[in-house]
Amino acid sequence: MTFAGIVAALILGFIPATIASKKGRDFMTWYIYGFLLFIVALPHSLIISKTEDQKLKDASASGRVPCPFCKELIHIDAVVCPHCQRDLPADFKEKAMASCAPPEEPQRKKPSASMKGQIEWAKNHPEDNK
Ligand SMILES: [Zn+2]
Repeated sequence: MTFAGIVAALILGFIPATIASKKGRDFMTWYIYGFLLFIVALPHSLIISKTEDQKLKDASASGRVPCPFCKELIHIDAVVCPHCQRDLPADFKEKAMASCAPPEEPQRKKPSASMKGQIEWAKNHPEDNK
């Protein structure tokens, strides 16, 4: 392989790697695969399906979450699952949003005013004093 061929392979390796990483696959693995076997890696990256994690990420980004009963993707505001026809629990939306959104840090600060205030705060938040 000539120097120009190696440079071309280094550049072409990004194509299947980018396509595969958008489908939830490891970028570096697919870059090496694309560098060594571009002619095979490109169609392979196009035909592979998204990983289950990537499907869930895409679905939650578009406001769809899996039904707790049949696991089909349904709209987050649904009251009845259109696939299994079961009524969704009243707290379904809250639970679904909690599982999709990254966990938020509770907004609280340690008081720095007085010693009495700090003792009071420590009593109310024992998990922070481990
Ligand atoms: Zn369902």
